[in-house]
Amino acid sequence: MKRPLAPLFATFVAAGIVALPSAAIAADPAVLRDAALKDDIAFDILEGLTTEVGQRLAATPAEARAREWAVTELRRAGFANVHVETFTMPVWQRGEETAEIMSPFPQKLVVAALGNSSATPAGGITAEIAAFDGLDALVKAPAEAVRGKIVFVNHHMAAQQDGGSYGEIGAIRRSGPSIASKKGALAIVIRSIGTDHHRVPHTGVQNWIDGARPIPAAALSVPDAEQLARVLDRGKPVTLHLTIGAGMAGTGTSGNVIAEVPGRDPKGGIVLVGGHLDSWDLGTGTIDDASGLAIVTAAARRIMASGQPRRAIRIVWFGAEEPGGFGGDAYAKAHVGEKHVLVGESDSGADRVWKVDFTAADPKAPLTVRIALALAPLGITRGNAPAHGGTDVAPIARVTGAPVIDLHQDATRYFDIHHTADDTLDKVDPEQLRQNVAAWTALLAVAAEDGEELGPVAPASAR
Ligand code: ZN
Ligand code: ZN
Repeated sequence: MKRPLAPLFATFVAAGIVALPSAAIAADPAVLRDAALKDDIAFDILEGLTTEVGQRLAATPAEARAREWAVTELRRAGFANVHVETFTMPVWQRGEETAEIMSPFPQKLVVAALGNSSATPAGGITAEIAAFDGLDALVKAPAEAVRGKIVFVNHHMAAQQDGGSYGEIGAIRRSGPSIASKKGALAIVIRSIGTDHHRVPHTGVQNWIDGARPIPAAALSVPDAEQLARVLDRGKPVTLHLTIGAGMAGTGTSGNVIAEVPGRDPKGGIVLVGGHLDSWDLGTGTIDDASGLAIVTAAARRIMASGQPRRAIRIVWFGAEEPGGFGGDAYAKAHVGEKHVLVGESDSGADRVWKVDFTAADPKAPLTVRIALALAPLGITRGNAPAHGGTDVAPIARVTGAPVIDLHQDATRYFDIHHTADDTLDKVDPEQLRQNVAAWTALLAVAAEDGEELGPVAPASAR
């Protein structure tokens, strides 16, 4: 049978009800885990959200439609206490975007504005390029080398299983525009923070720091950045014409969508699992981060179908992660008084989980061993780094001392697609998606039922 779980799910959906047995979850974590290797719930969520809503730029009408879709689908799947917690935030929107080398070799380049970029004057700007190989070179450059020019920052990011270079090289996107602005640049174009060789630029957020004046800030696709570097290597001054129509568009509403599997023990606290509902506007936000929502929600749904866990499982589809973690901050503020026994998020695509890390009061606590053992048959090894939880759950962990779990996904392909127009459903490997669901199901089956506590964890400053 191709899709063994679909009829069961469809029955629940059609009936509009889901029985919540009052007994403990029925099966051994290993049984639930292995059954999840045949999961189709996650793909159904992923396909539905990315088809029926598509891109979901934060605090825009598209994200509002996504919240409505989420509430309908989470209620239909039988979750309890499904609701939206809204907040307001600044809205940024994309406009026209073109780049063209005017001299010495006239030709068009492919470009996309970065989040919070300002616009060029109508008709664009034309200026000489000031090129830098990496962020350090820009930091060290005298202002005279930059003033009145369009800065170009190149780099050499390679694909890695742990995606580690995103932190270091991603600083070009996060900080480069502010540094260029403070040195008097007219605009900045960076080589996309990506590892592909397709003509699709990678957008992403940057914030104006220390009062830096907003300037046009954009990313060239990797092949276009390499082309520009070759043109620059010819040693002649290079003039670029850049048109960016992006800009701030007032204040809008975003929101966190919350759903629960109630726990048997009213004092058992909450196991929080999440991902983010908003996306960038270029693709359909499939690997970033509809897949994360689909994975954790399918896992919770599978636990719910097997019985009622000791502790509540709370699913949060965070709003507005991409522009700077507004959803995670709003959640932490609203829920600081609640007992969170473990928090984790899925936000690195849909490829397989390969490593688990924990932050717990006792890093060697037996419960962490039980969780790691439940994950091991999926090919997941235990790491020895502290878990961070990501932009969405780190704030609640910080304010409550909640223990954190990271299920690290294979990021080798992630930065080929991340934040591009290529972030579409066809990039998802259903088998690897199922392995993710199995991992989160195993985690929830152990963590929501086990009586041991892993926290609270002392604040980072006290550790
Ligand atoms: Zn994300
Ligand atoms: Zn993202």
